[in-house]
Amino acid sequence: MNADLHLNAAATEINGAHPQWSRAEAQAIYDLPFNDLLFRAQTVHRQNFDPNRVQLSRLLSIKTGGCPEDCGYCSQSSRHESGLKASKLMEVQRVLAEAKKAKDAGATRYCMGAAWRSPKERDMDAVVAMIEGVKELGMESCMTLGMLDLGQAQRLKEAGLDYYNHNIDTSERYYNEIITTRTFADRLDTLANVRDSGIKVCCGGIVGMGEEKADRVDMLVTLANLPEHPDSVPINMLIPIEGTPLGEAEPIEPIEFVRTIALARIMMPKSHVRLSAGRTAMSDEMQALCFFAGANSIFVGDTLLTAENPGEDKDTALFRRLGIQPMERGAQ
Ligand code: SF4
Repeated sequence: MNADLHLNAAATEINGAHPQWSRAEAQAIYDLPFNDLLFRAQTVHRQNFDPNRVQLSRLLSIKTGGCPEDCGYCSQSSRHESGLKASKLMEVQRVLAEAKKAKDAGATRYCMGAAWRSPKERDMDAVVAMIEGVKELGMESCMTLGMLDLGQAQRLKEAGLDYYNHNIDTSERYYNEIITTRTFADRLDTLANVRDSGIKVCCGGIVGMGEEKADRVDMLVTLANLPEHPDSVPINMLIPIEGTPLGEAEPIEPIEFVRTIALARIMMPKSHVRLSAGRTAMSDEMQALCFFAGANSIFVGDTLLTAENPGEDKDTALFRRLGIQPMERGAQ
């Protein structure tokens, strides 16, 4: 299927099946003249979403640092010298008090992240109570806890979990340069367990880790060829953190980042493409271009799991200048 047909197929999604992409097709779109690429992305975006609405999520680290994994970008790995202090799992009531504050500030989805390889049985009751409490507040719940087997995923689903985040991070080819303690196939297994349990998948990756353009394209091809497109596709721009193996990584060229967003929008037309970590290093104009290219979700709040994020005042001011409104809960 050529790239033009793909655009039409993506818009119609005959019988609910989505087209499968080859690297060559995706690369051809990524390499389009920039204006053509943005026009296509914006066209697909308008066919599927209100172009002036952006979904707001709030992220809380419920268990910080001390992680046994070796993800090269992460300050929370116990193998890196980032200086981050490890903490225990937060108490349920504290998590719910923070969730309430986020709701009052306009967030519709509450994302909770723990720096684990995978959750331990002894932690599951607390995690379940957090999900139930967030649901009672009337917010959507999302968790990222590392790898899950099917039984764990089903337990989280029963508790009412709406979304589970588990990123593939990069292309399969480049993956081993970034992480050695679990494989790309492990990641896909967790995604399958989450999907099979009926939880919506949030899955994306990180760019600016020294990968090649082909890796960015391949990462998106993997996501777009999953049995179902992830509901949310976070695209993170690496924040190099001192003491991590990627602490000195060269920043990605902003136009390349925008191209990545546009390709994600075109290949996964109904997914929420989230402009995730790295917004503090982006100009307002770059963020505006990302929204034009089809990004329609951000994290709000001063910090992500451990990294800086623009404060809400700054985001509110940017939204006002761009005429963007927050998306209602569960809206497209
Ligand atoms: S990204 Fe997650 S799994 Fe990897 S080191 Fe950081 S906290 Fe651990």
